[in-house]
Amino acid sequence: MSNVKVLNKGEKYSHVSVGSIKNVDGKQFVKESTEATSCEISFGTLPSGAEVPFFHSHKHNEENYIILSGAGRFQVNDDVFDIAEGSVVRVAPGCDRNLKCTSSEPMTYICIQAKDGSLEGYTMTDAEITERKNLL
Ligand code: ZN
Repeated sequence: MSNVKVLNKGEKYSHVSVGSIKNVDGKQFVKESTEATSCEISFGTLPSGAEVPFFHSHKHNEENYIILSGAGRFQVNDDVFDIAEGSVVRVAPGCDRNLKCTSSEPMTYICIQAKDGSLEGYTMTDAEITERKNLL
């Protein structure tokens, strides 16, 4: 069930919230709420000792897992390694992946899924400084 709330929406933006990250219910996907066109972002929580109940693979998308709290183990095909708060794991298409929480506290993470090889310009090669009046 989605707990994603749409908070603000304009012609050029969407602002949604999954609420408290520590209380994310299972997995929450935000692409439909934000109407994102370049990636899918999901928030996940695994209780102590839990793992995703299946391995999965993607045909065309890479995934970037960002661990926000807790610690655990990550498996890509037959490689296994430790992960913890601050870890970022990029997984290419065409391989199996799973993660497990081994800390006493729940593991919370964000997964960003985007088409492999699609990023061309970024940061300084895509951004430009503009002269907008600051209203903040
Ligand atoms: Zn996936």
